[in-house]
Amino acid sequence: MTVLACVIERAERVRVVEYPTPEPGKGQVAVDVAYGGICGSDLHYFHDGAAGEFVIREPLIPGHEIVGTVAAFGAGVVGLEPGSPVAVHPAQVCGSCVDCLGGNPQLCSSSRYLGSAAHFPHVQGGFTERLVVTANRIFPLPDGMSLRRAALAEPFSVAFHAVRRAGDVVGRTVLVTGAGPIGCLTVAALRQADAGTILVSDLTDAALQNAKLMGADVLLRADQADTQWPEQVDLAIEASGTGPGLNTCIRTVRRAGRIVQVGILPPGTTEVIGNAIVNKEIELLGSWRFHLEFSAAIDLLATEINAEPLISHEFRLQEAERAFRSAADRLSCKVLLNIGASAN
Ligand SMILES: [Zn+2]
Ligand SMILES: [Zn+2]
Repeated sequence: MTVLACVIERAERVRVVEYPTPEPGKGQVAVDVAYGGICGSDLHYFHDGAAGEFVIREPLIPGHEIVGTVAAFGAGVVGLEPGSPVAVHPAQVCGSCVDCLGGNPQLCSSSRYLGSAAHFPHVQGGFTERLVVTANRIFPLPDGMSLRRAALAEPFSVAFHAVRRAGDVVGRTVLVTGAGPIGCLTVAALRQADAGTILVSDLTDAALQNAKLMGADVLLRADQADTQWPEQVDLAIEASGTGPGLNTCIRTVRRAGRIVQVGILPPGTTEVIGNAIVNKEIELLGSWRFHLEFSAAIDLLATEINAEPLISHEFRLQEAERAFRSAADRLSCKVLLNIGASAN
């Protein structure tokens, strides 16, 4: 028995290959993958053969935004039924280091994240028909939640974590720079958390319209000279992953305001208006992935937040290369690989 998987062999080289069907061992669950969302890091692996400092050194199955149904499980796994819809937590953490024990498992230095070249051998990801993970990473979906709606659980968790890093947002004026999937999901999380006016900046109207769908009040074109930037936002969340985006946040946040950097900046150094951080006493915080938020994020996506309109395209696993090219296009938002969700 074999299954298909999408494999990146090097920059600009992706193939769909057959390999032996993986079987779950003790304490493990095999998932028939339904959808895999394409993320910025997957795109970096495809275009550059590396994501930041993590370089592909052997063929890598990308993909960490994974939902599907339970196919089988090994000894010792209880409470799951074959066919149940589930989301897969992408991180396997050690559980015993200072960060894990201190309540920050997302910072675990031995974390193994699906579809990542951070370690060697690489951690193979979820753009495959059958994925096996330990049972504690399997999150059954609430009754009635569709797999497609749940497909945004991982990126929404990233946004949700960033908003938690921001602290109390109730009634606050917030600027979000970047209206890609993470920026738009950040808007959704801010709206749900009762933020005040939410302003969003991006380079394209298409992206800004997506942010509006998620609840943004004011849309700002970052590339136009006559844009009326606010002067005194309470909080800025940088979701574009660019130096200019971060500098916009530094200029725009009020004195003693806070900036949360969730976008991943280019490798190496980034030039910032450093003295404004000093003389405005800005708090600049990083936000890295998420961990414990996954379950709450799924519940919110099942109930109060409908992020499904952010899904702009769907491709079959066999069309992986087209899907990557589409995801890199500024006109798309979240692109999904439909791996086994429908037999069409
Ligand atoms: Zn992602
Ligand atoms: Zn740890």
